[in-house]
Amino acid sequence: MAAQPLTATDPVVLASLAEATPQSIWLDDPAAPDPSPSLVGDIRCDLLVVGGGFTGLWAALQAKEDDASLDVVVVEGREIGWAASGRNGGFVSGSLTHGLLNGVERFPDEMETLERLGEENLQGIEDTLQRYAIEAEWERSGELTVAYEPWQLAHLEAMPELAARYGAKVELWDADRTQSEVASPTYVGATFEAEGTALVNPAKLAWGLRRACLDLGVRLFERTPVTGLAEESGRMVATTPYGRIRAPKVALGTNVFPSLVKRARPYVVPVWDYVLTTEPLTAEQRRSIGWQQRQGIGDAANQFHYYRLTADDRILWGGYDAIYYYRNGMDSRHEHRPETYAKLAEHFFTTFPQLEGLQFSHAWGGAIDTCTRFCAFWGQAYGGKVAYVTGYTGLGVGATRFGARVLLDLLSGRPTPRTELDFVRRKPLPFPPEPVKFAGIALTRWSIDSADRNEGRRNPWLRTLDRLGLGFDS
Ligand SMILES: Cc1cc2nc3c(=O)[nH]c(=O)nc-3n(C[C@H](O)[C@H](O)[C@H](O)COP(=O)(O)OP(=O)(O)OC[C@H]3O[C@@H](n4cnc5c(N)ncnc54)[C@H](O)[C@@H]3O)c2cc1C
Repeated sequence: MAAQPLTATDPVVLASLAEATPQSIWLDDPAAPDPSPSLVGDIRCDLLVVGGGFTGLWAALQAKEDDASLDVVVVEGREIGWAASGRNGGFVSGSLTHGLLNGVERFPDEMETLERLGEENLQGIEDTLQRYAIEAEWERSGELTVAYEPWQLAHLEAMPELAARYGAKVELWDADRTQSEVASPTYVGATFEAEGTALVNPAKLAWGLRRACLDLGVRLFERTPVTGLAEESGRMVATTPYGRIRAPKVALGTNVFPSLVKRARPYVVPVWDYVLTTEPLTAEQRRSIGWQQRQGIGDAANQFHYYRLTADDRILWGGYDAIYYYRNGMDSRHEHRPETYAKLAEHFFTTFPQLEGLQFSHAWGGAIDTCTRFCAFWGQAYGGKVAYVTGYTGLGVGATRFGARVLLDLLSGRPTPRTELDFVRRKPLPFPPEPVKFAGIALTRWSIDSADRNEGRRNPWLRTLDRLGLGFDS
């Protein structure tokens, strides 16, 4: 960031964290449904869905909408939405490719189609909320990408023209226009896209989809981890602690957790991302920041922050650090990282100095299913009886609905316009084994940090990754 940051040990900054509850604000809600009982005994069904995050819920819902007579079972290892789906920023992007730039770089010939499918997908989510009367604090308020430094603004300048090529409207704003919209002295400019991004309360979305699935007759077993998957007499058999499920087709929505299809594992690493929310702003604090259009905001650095207002006018503030722990670390002790919380708090008060004295109410972390192409990919196993999708790399709140749609296409065994896309057929490059993986990710993080401190200049390592199609520029 351009402005001189406060230091992480600044007592004012640290005091703002004193009362933060170590839990996702979305999940800290008395409206959370009681979990369904675990599976006990042996059952059969037509479609087994493993994983009760957005991917699994969208797969079950769309399968039932396609064919109401289908017997669909969802099994979730813990509770619906407890993982990434209940811990994210709630930005619902219309992009299936983790942004236009990443998509154009990797799938130039398909981008027109992918942008259209992404728009339809976003609208499909909105229509589903209406159809099932799901109250999930949906706001179609668009996205503002702010620049803190001139080199970031120079990168943003190309966006209006690029977006226009794909029929989208992006405005470029100067410092005055940006600061008159959202009052931060750190902004030197921004791009604004009014369409294409919505905000949501992700836990309410997950719980609403859960209820819609149950109403359509989906059978749900929570606290039921699948511990093994095998083929027996032409059917798949999933083993759980107290039972077994036989099904001809299995959809895996297990995201960053070790895949039940072992060969899918090298394609994804868990990268931990951390988030803070403030207490609700007073009317005076709210006035002091402007932000009347309530856009979702991201910044244009390589290590970026994302932030937004919640329905009760808190600020959710996340991102920047992206931490990989050795050997795909998924231990629950990684759910909190005080060092990162202090850094996030410090950046928050640099961005909004007028809010000094505000307390953070919640602090939490979650693991992101990162792959080397930064957007979802699909795979099949057991002769097409099992299909999986993962790799959303931090932009899956919207894309999971599309991911699940393609899972059902793949399991049907019939080609569709979606399954013919290169985007669906191709896989990313896998990560190397440890310790090369850890060293490579650490070097990449260090290089990205250096680029942000050196006017965006990418060092030889990042340029090599760019050449190999592994480079990421937010
Ligand atoms: C901190 C954070 C912020 C984010 N912010 C955003 C954002 O603002 N916008 C955005 O688009 N994306 C964001 N994301 C990413 C987004 O949350 C995910 O892409 C999305 O929720 C993935 O949904 P999912 O259903 O695939 O995975 P998950 O929600 O992780 O669900 C997978 C489920 O599978 C279950 N499971 C795994 N293995 C088994 C098994 N063997 N048996 C039974 N159950 C199993 C798990 O218990 C889990 O509930 C963020 C992620 C994080 C962590």
